[in-house]
Amino acid sequence: MIALTLAEIADLTGGTLHALPADGHVPVVTGAVVTDSREAEAGSLYVARIGESMDGHRFVGGARDRGAVAALTSRPVEELPCVVVDDVQEAFVALSRAVLDRATDLTVIGITGSSGKTSTKDLLGTVLGAAAPTIAPVGSYNSEVGVPLTVTRVTDDTRFLVVEMGARGIGHVAYLTRIAPPRIGVVLNVGTAHVGEFGSRDAIARAKAELVEALPADGVAVLNADDPAVRAMAGRTDARVVLVGEDADATVRAEAVAVGPDGRASFRVVSPQGEATIALRLVGRHHVGNALAVLAVALECGIPLEQAASTVAGADVVSRWRMEVTERADGVTVVNDAYNANPDSMRAALAALESMGEGRRTWAVLGSMLELGDESDAEHADIGGEAQRRGVAELVVVGETARPMADIAPARGTRIRWVEDADAAEALLREELAPPDVVLFKSSRDAGLRWLGDRLTTTD
Ligand code: ATP
Ligand code: MG
Repeated sequence: MIALTLAEIADLTGGTLHALPADGHVPVVTGAVVTDSREAEAGSLYVARIGESMDGHRFVGGARDRGAVAALTSRPVEELPCVVVDDVQEAFVALSRAVLDRATDLTVIGITGSSGKTSTKDLLGTVLGAAAPTIAPVGSYNSEVGVPLTVTRVTDDTRFLVVEMGARGIGHVAYLTRIAPPRIGVVLNVGTAHVGEFGSRDAIARAKAELVEALPADGVAVLNADDPAVRAMAGRTDARVVLVGEDADATVRAEAVAVGPDGRASFRVVSPQGEATIALRLVGRHHVGNALAVLAVALECGIPLEQAASTVAGADVVSRWRMEVTERADGVTVVNDAYNANPDSMRAALAALESMGEGRRTWAVLGSMLELGDESDAEHADIGGEAQRRGVAELVVVGETARPMADIAPARGTRIRWVEDADAAEALLREELAPPDVVLFKSSRDAGLRWLGDRLTTTD
């Protein structure tokens, strides 16, 4: 973090200092701000949050033992010098703003969308990071806690800050943009993720539009032209709009998109700054749109197209359980995409499976998609149909919530089986998988399919 004394932190959060050392020395926070005491390091500030089951105040001593020099708390503690405030979350936000106010020459980029935020953030982090010091932390830090954790990592050297902004409800992204006001905002897509919580797709679109509404007049809104709900956001921002996509009027456009038998896409990017041919290392056609957004931001940040294109092409920023492809020794290909699932990412994964299935048998082992509310059964049934349309040979549906995927009329020779849980799926797969089959695992986080996918990367 940009160094701040505890007195400054007390001042900017309206808190009071407590438990300062007897010699009156006021600690200076120079290290990372952490909410998990196990992540504390030398010079850290430990933020004690009170969660549903845990009271962070219990771990102040642990943070100190790992090198934290101070704590932000809502009641006095004795283990570390602390700033005591009424509302730790609000103070954490104020601290983030203070860090950004002190940063010079920093461009903040916000990314939202129903699917692909983390993938795009990682890709953009790689491209910007190759040009200048960049903060784009690994993982899905997209919440009211994750965003301030990200922001407070900014140091005097940082030039680019890439922030993932997840929308859990109306007002949520707006809140995150107040913590980290972006100059560049990227909206990837409006899907049906969390439709149960939002009530409608329209409400999801409104929630995502909060990102572009927060942009300043000299900012830039990078919008996916291929998603009508995203394109419509052009009317909701003061910022300059850069459309990206395969659509003819996109400013940064992909042409001649082709997907190889390894599931990787190649395309020609056409932009006002020139053209380049890119063959992605990431698996899945859906990464074309993510890559275009990254290229558009890179161009806005002054990175030459050629340089950005070559970093995008070389990037292999696969996170755990997101289209993780393993070639097994026996010739079976395992695709583990079971980090999370919603209808859009299910469709994207099935499209990738289809492109990888040429001349071989495809298996889709699919579990539930959570948070779909009243539409859950219909959405699951739709995905069953999509698997058939994508020519899946063997559809294995796992768990009760996902059952409607299996309760569909047979079509296109897809064999459909329902099993109760991941163990039952494992028994079936151990028995029947044979080279050169390709098998996709995909579900929301709860279903245990990611572990099954991991276990099946070996034959023992
Ligand atoms: P979360 O809300 O869980 O943080 P996220 O928006 O960060 O999700 P990722 O983790 O990048 O998304 O990707 C989630 C899933 O969506 C992965 O299975 C990935 O393969 C798929 N995906 C990535 N980009 C897209 C896209 N543009 N369209 C559809 N699916 C995508
Ligand atoms: Mg994410």
